[in-house]
Amino acid sequence: MTAGFRKSPEPPPAPVQDESIRPRCLEDFIGQDELRANLRVYLHAARERGNPLDHTLFYGNPGLGKTTLAQIMATELGVNIVCSSGPVLERSGDLAAVLTNLGRHDILFVDEIHRMPIVVEEVLYPAMEDFKLDLVIGQGPAARTVKIDLEPFTLVGATTRMGLLSSPLRDRFGIVARLEYYNPAELARVVRRTAAILNVAVTDNGAREIGRRSRGTPRIANRLLRRVRDFALVHGNGRITAEQAVLALERMEVDENGLDQMDRKLLTVLIEHYDGGPVGIKTLAAACSEDVRTLEDIYEPYLIQCGFLKRTPRGRMATGKAYAHLKMLA
Ligand code: ADP
Repeated sequence: MTAGFRKSPEPPPAPVQDESIRPRCLEDFIGQDELRANLRVYLHAARERGNPLDHTLFYGNPGLGKTTLAQIMATELGVNIVCSSGPVLERSGDLAAVLTNLGRHDILFVDEIHRMPIVVEEVLYPAMEDFKLDLVIGQGPAARTVKIDLEPFTLVGATTRMGLLSSPLRDRFGIVARLEYYNPAELARVVRRTAAILNVAVTDNGAREIGRRSRGTPRIANRLLRRVRDFALVHGNGRITAEQAVLALERMEVDENGLDQMDRKLLTVLIEHYDGGPVGIKTLAAACSEDVRTLEDIYEPYLIQCGFLKRTPRGRMATGKAYAHLKMLA
């Protein structure tokens, strides 16, 4: 067995519903225009030359389309993709098993690549550079190294934390691309596309309202659409209008800026308990009963992007905009 996607408990395989709405080709992938145009060139060039695509690193917040792009690359190149993740590849043997099973020009997708242990990472270096695997067999003085040839392959890594990637690993990627938050118009397109696949009627204003409150993230847009669909079915005639969307999103406590209960709790705690900061992330996480990584990976980036939160050398601070949004006095 390999340490591949299907056998691993982490990350969980996407529900079947998610798979049906995932864009399959670059044409269907909405937004990230510059990145998409560049990828089209790289894919075309790799196909023309008959070479594997250069190793590619995608970084950006969760739900912005890193996995989707990796799968699209495999489809566009007509190769297989094997999906794994940093925490699953615990030992060098796990990675060796995956690598030796790859076919010619296949894609190995490693999600959360920054969480791969360093011993495993070291096995990856010669594999990325020369398509060779240095395996140590035996222990102590009797240990010896065997070199195994691998099929040429493409590693596609995804990370939410570029800063945690070691520089030797980062330097071995030929293509490094950042995924940005999507604008509300792009998210409205994501909502309309998903609604069409799920057979849900949504007006343009309804899609815009959901898009506007989706924190710049297609995964969230799709999730909100599903929930709004439930409300529209039970409280309306099933058709999602702007009015239906606002009602449903208010019931879910998603406000007009897309902030949810946890975002507001974080800002409220910061303002009420710590006079707006600065306060360290660990203290803030403890006060919100949330773990540090979730705050750093999921909540903070959007709050910073929207200008509700500031990251300073002495800790996190609420901005004037946060006070105004929560109707609190500075
Ligand atoms: P990541 O790997 O960055 O966490 P995913 O690639 O798993 O994110 O994307 C999450 C979901 O959002 C996917 O199921 C996909 O349906 C949807 N999605 C992501 N990017 C786009 C896009 N550009 N256009 C349409 N849907 C998208």
